[in-house]
Parts: sequence; C-alpha cells; structure tokens
Amino acid sequence: MRPYIREKKDFAFNEVPVDTSFEAGYLVSVNSGWRSIRPVIANEKCVGCEQCYLYCPDGVISINNGKAEIDYDFCKGCGICAKICKLGAIGMEAERK
Ligand code: SF4
Ligand code: SF4
Repeated sequence: MRPYIREKKDFAFNEVPVDTSFEAGYLVSVNSGWRSIRPVIANEKCVGCEQCYLYCPDGVISINNGKAEIDYDFCKGCGICAKICKLGAIGMEAERK
C-alpha cells in the first residue's frame, strides 16, 4: 500500500499516490444520501489537466486515461470541481434518487 503524505514517513517520489481517491481522503464512510447535486464530467471536454483533482476537498477525483473520474461513493456534491474547471467539463446535476 502506498503511504499517505500526511503520515510523514520517508518514501520515494514514485510512491506518492497518483490520485487521492486511491483511498478515501478524510471521509471513511460512503455518502449517506444527503447529496442533492452531483458533478457530471463531459469526457469530450476534459483534457485531464488535474485541476479538479487538485482542488477537490475530499480527494475523490482521479485521472484515468487522461480523463477525470469521480468516486460518487464519497463525493459530497460541493461543486468546487465544477467551479475550478476552466473548460466547463464538469456540470452539476440534480441527484437522481
Ligand atoms: S479540471 Fe476539467 S479539464 Fe481538467 S481534469 Fe478536471 S474535468 Fe478535466
Ligand atoms: S463535488 Fe466536491 S466532493 Fe464532489 S468531486 Fe467535486 S469537488 Fe469533490
């Protein structure tokens, strides 16, 4: 298992997690259903710049094959990723129940 940076252990650069959703950030249980809106990525607009990945407060975005992916189990629907994406590749949509 790769180390967390916050554990302050010595580790090599190539051991740094490539995405923060490798494990859930500070959230340890899945979204309990209170999210009213969810981010939806338009893959054709996403260029994989990683800005949303860097700004997501819960570390639930990863970049796979050059595109952003969201772990909806832990996303709280704050919308920061949608605000930060300069290409408008993330839209917020009503949560489907
Ligand atoms: S900020 Fe936008 S373009 Fe960049 S990786 Fe995220 S969704 Fe894709
Ligand atoms: S809505 Fe918030 S928690 Fe969900 S992926 Fe975007 S920034 Fe992260």
